[in-house]
Amino acid sequence: MQLDGMTSIVTGAGTGIGAAIARRLAAEGARVCLVGRRPEPLEEVHRELPAGSSVVCVADVSDPADVERAVAAAVELGDGSLNIVVNNAGIGPFGSIGDLDLQEWHDAMAVNVTGPMLVIRAAIAHLKSSTGASVVNISSVAGRRPFPGLAAYSTTKAALIMLTQQAAVDYGPDGIRFNVVCPGWVRTPMSEREMESVVELHGGDVETALGRVSRDAPLRRVADPDEIAAVVTFLASSASSFMTGDVLAADGGSTLLDVSTLAFQADGA
Ligand code: NAD
Repeated sequence: MQLDGMTSIVTGAGTGIGAAIARRLAAEGARVCLVGRRPEPLEEVHRELPAGSSVVCVADVSDPADVERAVAAAVELGDGSLNIVVNNAGIGPFGSIGDLDLQEWHDAMAVNVTGPMLVIRAAIAHLKSSTGASVVNISSVAGRRPFPGLAAYSTTKAALIMLTQQAAVDYGPDGIRFNVVCPGWVRTPMSEREMESVVELHGGDVETALGRVSRDAPLRRVADPDEIAAVVTFLASSASSFMTGDVLAADGGSTLLDVSTLAFQADGA
């Protein structure tokens, strides 16, 4: 197993992509500290994992004291070491600059940018003293291309890419790698919530909306959370030992195309 003897912390581990990451890391032999705001979904994932391989820590990533406690729980699980950090927790409030709620803007900054910064800050001393240290941050295709009506989300996800690269430069000499994954549409509670705006605009239901948002992407489908977890596991493992500061798309090719080229293909072909 690729991650035997490694200890990890995964934020937002109770649902969607985070839960899939936790399952994959555990399947590769890692111990996993499952972090999130709600105990129930975390407990559910915890029950699925091999006995003794995980611990639940209810914590808000935007709260410095909570983050310190979560990292301490991970280090305790790892008998003093922490090798892998996955900053996955994220929120995506709707709104263009003119109409977004100011509190939601602050919340997105706090969870999507300050949260990963706090986790990295709390973990850094432990990562320095542990072997194969790797941090993987979950951004989005929206961190590289503006997304209509999602100003706070796109801006914070772009900031997360720079945070990752900044850390890669500052802590590379300490042997810590930092990489970022930019998923396209993935079937999760978050994307299902976001499909509601597509349904409002075009009718249909969540399924037809997921079909609509992926119909022009080269792979013509949305991802399963496990497909993102596989990329994260690669970045967490020694298979990617010479990669740092990299931005990996896992988007079915959706960001390859300039929108003007869509006129050259049949609708939904
Ligand atoms: P999700 O809503 O299922 O998962 C997000 C998790 O983060 C939830 O479990 C939530 O409780 C947790 N969380 C939110 N705020 C938190 C906080 N303050 N402290 C601790 N935990 C908190 O959605 P998902 O789709 O699995 O999203 C996971 C990550 O993937 C997010 O960063 C999201 O932006 C990113 N992403 C998702 C998609 C997609 O299509 N689903 C695409 C690109 C990027």
